[in-house]
Amino acid sequence: MPQPRRSKKNKEPRDFGWVISFGCKSTGTLRRLKVDTVPSPDTRPIEVPCVCGETHRVTVSPYRRRRSADEPFDLEVASLDELR
Ligand SMILES: [Zn+2]
Repeated sequence: MPQPRRSKKNKEPRDFGWVISFGCKSTGTLRRLKVDTVPSPDTRPIEVPCVCGETHRVTVSPYRRRRSADEPFDLEVASLDELR
């Protein structure tokens, strides 16, 4: 059964998730956390289990932005709520 055209939705760019950058205090490097769902205007800090083995407390809102298609990341979650 043919679907009615929904041209507006189809014009949206593909969704590659969002990136939240955070500083790894242990190694002094910048890491990237990918989150699949929109980190809505919830600015509560998150606790990120970093690849260095420690958990870093990260402030969310100033650093969030859309992820580009080929941008690498260090960690991935579906929702920031997993880290609160
Ligand atoms: Zn770290």
